Amino acid sequence: MSKNNSSRREFIKTTGKAGVAAGIALTVLPSWTEAASPVPMAGTPFTQQPLPYDYKALDAVVDAMTMEIHYTKHAAAYAKNLADACVAEKVDTSSARLEDMLRNISKYSAKMRNNGGGHYNHEMFWKCMRPGIASKPEGRLAAAIDQSFGSFDTFKTQFTDAGKNRFGSGWAWLALTGDKKLVVTSTPNQDNPLMDIAEVKGTPLLGLDVWEHAYYLKYQNKRPDYIANWWNVVNWEFVQKRFEMG
Ligand code: MN
Repeated sequence: MSKNNSSRREFIKTTGKAGVAAGIALTVLPSWTEAASPVPMAGTPFTQQPLPYDYKALDAVVDAMTMEIHYTKHAAAYAKNLADACVAEKVDTSSARLEDMLRNISKYSAKMRNNGGGHYNHEMFWKCMRPGIASKPEGRLAAAIDQSFGSFDTFKTQFTDAGKNRFGSGWAWLALTGDKKLVVTSTPNQDNPLMDIAEVKGTPLLGLDVWEHAYYLKYQNKRPDYIANWWNVVNWEFVQKRFEMG
């Protein structure tokens, strides 16, 4: 049993007690750092997976109503519309891989691009966050960030700027390129760096949703405040696992 597993159990136990004490019905779902597959997000399913924490779990950063609407309305709609597009475009979702489709997304419809991207991005986004104390990358990922950006703080500034400067709706990303370099990039709408139409291509390791629906209730026009707070809930364990598989 790894140290991580035992600290996670400890966290769940502690959180569970706090929830009981506060009279809150907590839904403690299985670990937010382990996908069903040992490789996080490999073979992302076409259907929406359970949110890996309670709607209130990230309340200090993302309020519960935003989380609930984001998950049950916005993200659910991407999953449904992706399913509809797959029927219309005769994609067999029992054998197709969403990642492979995104890598060739220029061959599909705009509906597939918007909703395939939307579904993949949100499934990843929920896992990029977790409740608990703010942390930082460790080990090989921390070293690679230092090497690529000079320091963790410089990386944070670049990523923050990518999110702040994305005009309209879109995403900020940390991605691993084909030649194994870490890059910060940003995409419009529901595009992502896997897509063959992306300006900067790579495997997304960390993604931040900067659509207004992700933050407007709590932050209104203050996207920079949302991003500044968001660093406190980044799930670096998840990002590290994606880095190590990439
Ligand atoms: Mn969103």
